[in-house]
Amino acid sequence: MQTISKASSATSFFRCSRKLSSQPCVRQLNIRKSLVCRVMKLVSSPLRTLRGAGKSIRVSKFCSVSNVSSLQIELVPCLKDNYAYILHDEDTGTVGVVDPSEAEPIIDSLKRSGRNLTYILNTHHHYDHTGGNLELKDRYGAKVIGSAMDKDRIPGIDMALKDGDKWMFAGHEVHVMDTPGHTKGHISLYFPGSRAIFTGDTMFSLSCGKLFEGTPKQMLASLQKITSLPDDTSIYCGHEYTLVCCTLVF
Ligand SMILES: [Zn+2]
Repeated sequence: MQTISKASSATSFFRCSRKLSSQPCVRQLNIRKSLVCRVMKLVSSPLRTLRGAGKSIRVSKFCSVSNVSSLQIELVPCLKDNYAYILHDEDTGTVGVVDPSEAEPIIDSLKRSGRNLTYILNTHHHYDHTGGNLELKDRYGAKVIGSAMDKDRIPGIDMALKDGDKWMFAGHEVHVMDTPGHTKGHISLYFPGSRAIFTGDTMFSLSCGKLFEGTPKQMLASLQKITSLPDDTSIYCGHEYTLVCCTLVF
């Protein structure tokens, strides 16, 4: 896999600083195959948590993303550096959200668009990816979907999926991919028709998630699984860990 389109993080701080001022929807990132090796070097180093970085560059002003199919993807900044993603199928009006760490920003967005919420999709059990589950489920009656391995740890889960399962979101095929390493039950959700994958805390921009429950070998296999997808796949990750670089050059 030579190149990957990427939606939510900066490419380099020089390019990023220019792009931010022009408010692009999707920025492109070239990732060479050697990235996996570079990423693995980072596994042993704790990732920095960039508290307040999102606020300092006004993330919400440049993060609405449209995709290539009838599936529209809206990036919603949550907490300090989390990203949730609202999925909207234009043909049916079906709406889902990926990894809502908190309910309020999701509710605000749905209010603005006048939409309901049908599905909540979780990549893994951590609170900063599932914290909004119960409030959103209670408010909208949405179904919660997550990993079968984490069925006892994902709040409100209704449908447990496992590696290789194919699930339909409003006519869009969703492939469930086990991507353990950060947690044992971590999954990534691949929408081949939209050339999009939601990688949660497995793959970030130029880094990967900490190994809380898995091994380096598992993480490497997970990253290789993601980088083996078609070159024009867009990656939607669960955190923004690069923006502090952008703030330094302002
Ligand atoms: Zn996590």
